Amino acid sequence: MHIYQISNNDKFDIKKLDPNDTKLWKKDKKAAKDELRDLRKKLIDLQRTLYAQHKHKILIVLQAMDAGGKDGTIKSIFKGVNPQGVRVAGFKVPTQEEREHDYLWRIHKRTPRNGEIVIFNRSHYEDVLVVRVHQLVPEKVWKKRYDHIIRFERLLSEEGTTILKFFLNISQEEQKERFLERIEKPEKQWKFNPNDLEERKLWEDYMQAYQDAISKTSTAYAPWFVIPANRNWYRDYVITSIIVETMENLKMHYPNPVENIEQFKDAII
Ligand code: AMP
Ligand code: MG
Repeated sequence: MHIYQISNNDKFDIKKLDPNDTKLWKKDKKAAKDELRDLRKKLIDLQRTLYAQHKHKILIVLQAMDAGGKDGTIKSIFKGVNPQGVRVAGFKVPTQEEREHDYLWRIHKRTPRNGEIVIFNRSHYEDVLVVRVHQLVPEKVWKKRYDHIIRFERLLSEEGTTILKFFLNISQEEQKERFLERIEKPEKQWKFNPNDLEERKLWEDYMQAYQDAISKTSTAYAPWFVIPANRNWYRDYVITSIIVETMENLKMHYPNPVENIEQFKDAII
């Protein structure tokens, strides 16, 4: 098992996991960037085969606190990957129509099809995170959701979806730095949302909600990884290596060509 993977019902203490940890990388930051470049090349090849074979489906779930690095992770990991076959699905405050359905309705619609990689930027986990912290539904309602989620993900898995879930673990101090950067840098100002400061005050509640969600829903077929995410280069390196390794284990191959393909050379007029 990967060192950042959480096992089911693990009583880990999220506050004890160090967001600055870089223990999987012994060399310097520059070397990590070179390694990431090599990993990206592998990912590009794997995605090409995934798309051609049209058999497996990959779902990557990203969750984090505000300014946790979800957008940056997506940008960095999928740089250079053929956009045909890769899709990002972001989940915001549910619309009226979405609210009038069960909370998995909007999620299921956006899961990957054969040959596709889908990255969830936020996900059905919001329904046991923000919803719990703000008591948007009563406790007896959200408490049942862990079980729904486990079964929903099992359904996806048994129908051919490979699921990887990442919590980008930043410190509260790092979030402060990132908010300040959003205020100071003109090209980042659009990301600043004063409401995020209200959410920040609920940090402890969120950590408790994350801890419960992660420990209750980490399964062999849909594991959670808690990634130290204060350092972007390390976060990108670790996540990309987990995705690459998982895809390599699928032992994918190109579909067989039509029989006697060579003979068609002469048929081209
Ligand atoms: P952002 O990702 O910064 O664009 O913000 C999206 C916002 O939508 C976040 O504040 C989320 O907490 C919120 N959100 C996402 N899903 C839900 C949900 N199911 N219920 C309530 N709020 C949600
Ligand atoms: Mg935000």
